[in-house]
Amino acid sequence: MKIITQIHEMQALVKELKKNNSIAFVPTMGYLHEGHLQLIRTARRSNDITIVSIFVNPIQFGPNEDFDAYPRDFERDKNICLTEDVDIVFYPSVEEMYPNPLSVKVLVQARTDVLCGDSRPGHFDGVATVLTKLFHIILPDRVYLGMKDAQQVAVVEGLISDFNFPIELIPVATVREADGLAKSSRNVNLSPMERDQAPAIYQSLSEAKEIIEDGEKNIEKIVSRVRDNIETKTSGTIDYIEIYSFPELQRIEKVQGKIIIAVAVQFTKVRLIDNIVLTIES
Ligand code: AMP
Repeated sequence: MKIITQIHEMQALVKELKKNNSIAFVPTMGYLHEGHLQLIRTARRSNDITIVSIFVNPIQFGPNEDFDAYPRDFERDKNICLTEDVDIVFYPSVEEMYPNPLSVKVLVQARTDVLCGDSRPGHFDGVATVLTKLFHIILPDRVYLGMKDAQQVAVVEGLISDFNFPIELIPVATVREADGLAKSSRNVNLSPMERDQAPAIYQSLSEAKEIIEDGEKNIEKIVSRVRDNIETKTSGTIDYIEIYSFPELQRIEKVQGKIIIAVAVQFTKVRLIDNIVLTIES
């Protein structure tokens, strides 16, 4: 396994590798867990070379967000990647990625006026900008993204299509703890009490799915059921509970077709997100 920290080195290596190999790319911010491993394993199954990037991208964090508190442990991540037979880890510094203030930035125009795009202004511009850089550095054939960050999947689909990147986007299902909590690097920043409460988020989403499958179509009723559940069972503050079409993220009158139910809950030190995507035949 190669660890590469320099952009020019990564570009030189990939230029050679691309001649005879398909390249899979798994972008991450590190502190790897089973969710990331699922992406890596899915990538390895269908590609010759798997490249994992580990980069906590400052420009996708707002001024009052957890950039400094975001957990980091490169030695641990390196050993996980070794065990998973990753071919290359791209681990640039912030100075390597952003040596100067950017003169050009990618501005996301759609699918960001709702959910995390609404609560985290500029977040998806930061994501789209760093991915544009990483796509040019790594030149992947396929990129693997988790459905845990469903809005990111929707935004990156737009980025790839609008900017004509010759890259196939492969969404990967959310990996969960045994109690249903979506695996996240941020879970370590929950207090023990919050960790006990947090599975209520997925339980409430699963219950919403059940009532929809039993015939409930009224969005307000579904949202209020999820809200009651989370408010009763956790000490967190609800940032949003919303239902949209997926991947367009358009408002809908009633539950129909492919939809996302998405939730964000703010705990003391950490904001958790989760979602379910389901298709309802009318
Ligand atoms: P992050 O390191 O949080 O930026 O995540 C890197 C990638 O892993 C993103 O595509 C995430 O959607 C994905 N990911 C994070 N958590 C999970 C999970 N629990 N299940 C599946 N994918 C995940």
